[in-house]
Amino acid sequence: SADSVSEHIAAATAHSAHNYKPLPVVLAEGEGAWVTDVTGRRYLDFLAGYSALNFGHRNPELLGAAQRQLERLTLTSRAFHNDQFAPYVRALARLVGKDQVLPMNTGVEAVESAIKVARKWGYEVKGVPEGAATIVVAGGNFHGRTTTVISFSQDADAYTGFGPYTPGFRVVPYGDADAVAEAIDETTAAVLVEPIQGEAGVVVPPTDYLPRLRDLCDQRRILLIADEVQSGLGRTGTVLACEHAGIEADAYVLGKALGGGILPVSAVVADSDVLGVLQPGQHGSTFGGNPLACAVGREVVRLLEEGPYLADARRLGEKLHARVQGFLGRGLVAVRGLGPWAGLDVDPALATGRQLCERLAERGVLVKDTHGSTIRLSPPLTLSAEDLDWGLDQIESVLTELAR
Ligand code: PMP
Repeated sequence: SADSVSEHIAAATAHSAHNYKPLPVVLAEGEGAWVTDVTGRRYLDFLAGYSALNFGHRNPELLGAAQRQLERLTLTSRAFHNDQFAPYVRALARLVGKDQVLPMNTGVEAVESAIKVARKWGYEVKGVPEGAATIVVAGGNFHGRTTTVISFSQDADAYTGFGPYTPGFRVVPYGDADAVAEAIDETTAAVLVEPIQGEAGVVVPPTDYLPRLRDLCDQRRILLIADEVQSGLGRTGTVLACEHAGIEADAYVLGKALGGGILPVSAVVADSDVLGVLQPGQHGSTFGGNPLACAVGREVVRLLEEGPYLADARRLGEKLHARVQGFLGRGLVAVRGLGPWAGLDVDPALATGRQLCERLAERGVLVKDTHGSTIRLSPPLTLSAEDLDWGLDQIESVLTELAR
């Protein structure tokens, strides 16, 4: 009932930190691209857990893999081997075209891990003087919210009031390879970049950006680290968004969809000449590489290799972009993206992104604003053509209403 919704929200507000401002919807069940709230109302999920639910809610194959493992063994810690570990890391490394995997849990934890690896690689392999390593990052980035990772965020909410900050990062404008060329020097261990910036509003860089970063990193002996936590694992219709640019990074950071929407699973994937800098005791996690995570992660790899998801994502993306392009000038002032992943800028004279999200939730479509007047669409890759059209109909109607 409506009472149970307001009671839930009141209790959540009273007893949890206010570091989020959720839409007033209390979800209880999910299947595929649809979720149901505590009143029984159904919503189409156009956010998909920020791309953690690429394979849909309660994907039967992923649930099966998790359930089989739940009956066997769930946690060992890395003090021992577990029988799910080797098949998983071998499969994930092969999927990405690298030798080795460093298993972690959340996205930001894998980003932190990549930073540690890059610094150590800088000292031990490149010969950067101890303590001097720098990492070049892009403006508008989102890599997570730990103390080190916010140190190079320009998002005022994420950054302000949480200092002192971790030194050693140089921020240059996203998409500007010349600025990267100027920022790097002999202390630079890595360039850390999102191949497409998700939280910034699905920002696709100029086509020569990543190839030029690749060349710079090759010439100056710098690791190119691609944070594909949101862009990877099918979101753009390929395993990795870097594939669209025709380049390979030296290390990939993966997360979100790697856990199948079931549990947090993340990883740094790289060759052994990079991950080999870590010796026992220098990095780790109680939960990273646990048997349940490995069983789910391995099934995610199998779905990407054998399932229809990548081809479906490409088809869905074409259909989505063809239609949202038509909203330009009719409530939208810009549209960006690749595959079934889009950033839409609403005419700020009409509504904020938040207002648009509220209106869409009333109509049964769940989306999220990223900032200001930008919203992001990232539906499950399993979304049917009919459901896509229905969801876009709702967006079109709300934009028409607002423009009236
Ligand atoms: N990197 C990127 C590119 C992301 O989009 C996110 C999450 N939005 C993260 C890292 C952080 O992931 P998590 O929330 O799992 O820590």
